[in-house]
Amino acid sequence: TGPLLAVEDLVVEYGLDQPVRAVDHVSLTVNRGEFIGIVGESGCGKSTLLYAIAKLLSEPARIVSGTVDFNGNNMVELTEAELRQIRWRDYSVVMQSAMNALNPVLSIGDQLQDAMLAHEKVSADAIRTRSEEALRLVGIDPIHLKSYPHQLSGGMRQRAMIAMALVFRPDLVIMDEPTSALDVVAQRSLMMRIKQLQKEFGFAVLFVTHDMSLVSHFSDRLAIMYAGQIVELGRTRDVFNAPQHPYSVGLLQAFPSVFGERKELTGIPGSPPDLRHPPSGCRFHPRCPQRMEVCDDVEPEAVTVGGSDLVRCHLFTGAGAGSR
Ligand code: SF4
Ligand code: MG
Repeated sequence: TGPLLAVEDLVVEYGLDQPVRAVDHVSLTVNRGEFIGIVGESGCGKSTLLYAIAKLLSEPARIVSGTVDFNGNNMVELTEAELRQIRWRDYSVVMQSAMNALNPVLSIGDQLQDAMLAHEKVSADAIRTRSEEALRLVGIDPIHLKSYPHQLSGGMRQRAMIAMALVFRPDLVIMDEPTSALDVVAQRSLMMRIKQLQKEFGFAVLFVTHDMSLVSHFSDRLAIMYAGQIVELGRTRDVFNAPQHPYSVGLLQAFPSVFGERKELTGIPGSPPDLRHPPSGCRFHPRCPQRMEVCDDVEPEAVTVGGSDLVRCHLFTGAGAGSR
């Protein structure tokens, strides 16, 4: 059997007149039960990639080309009605802010009930039992089924979102910085809970973050994104121990210790490019300490190197030989 999710050559653009390419020829697979972290600075396209995969993009963003195969579904072609059948049940999405994703005028219990009734005929008793169980799973006292989103702390709201995302035991849970609004302690404990649940139920996770240290403990593989592209993809251990792409090297230097304080990705001089006017050649060349002549004009292809699944850099394509 193939991977649970296979993204092939996906391109996503914003706007029509002067389209901004937020996701540029991204390919990625997720195996059953696998935890994949997608790391990059803000604006690198990582959230757009997730929402494209989940088919939750809204105008003016749109998938221009490429395929997303999930569990045998051609996601790009599915209708809204078909998507509604599989969303929540087969895959679910946990957004950055549950405050935006939850309905402010419905109690947590009513929202769980609505989610269940949208997919199945369930008795009132079954709804109650499953709702209580869902909250317990994420460490919330079932008494809060009666609570409204604004009555819960930020951490509890995120947990409630995760409870909802797991109600149908989906195969894939897509998460966009679900812990970024929380303090470090709440963040750690929520990550551990997610990992425990993942072990227990065996779902796969696609997890976007700007915080490399956060996923280092939890992900099986890591994708590093820069300016709309995956520049490196490999086993988390390999990427941490021996990063190949100069951008990954820079990111890791921004983290003196994986086990140390949480830090923003600020270790690389310069800032990410404006995607309206991306640099020619390698998008990282204006910031790259290893830049060669070829890098200014020729876009590097993704190649396989050592333990890594993929690296997109001329140091490995051979194109730079002799030009330094
Ligand atoms: Fe640096 Fe060139 Fe590699 Fe880009 S292709 S990361 S500029 S060495
Ligand atoms: Mg984002």
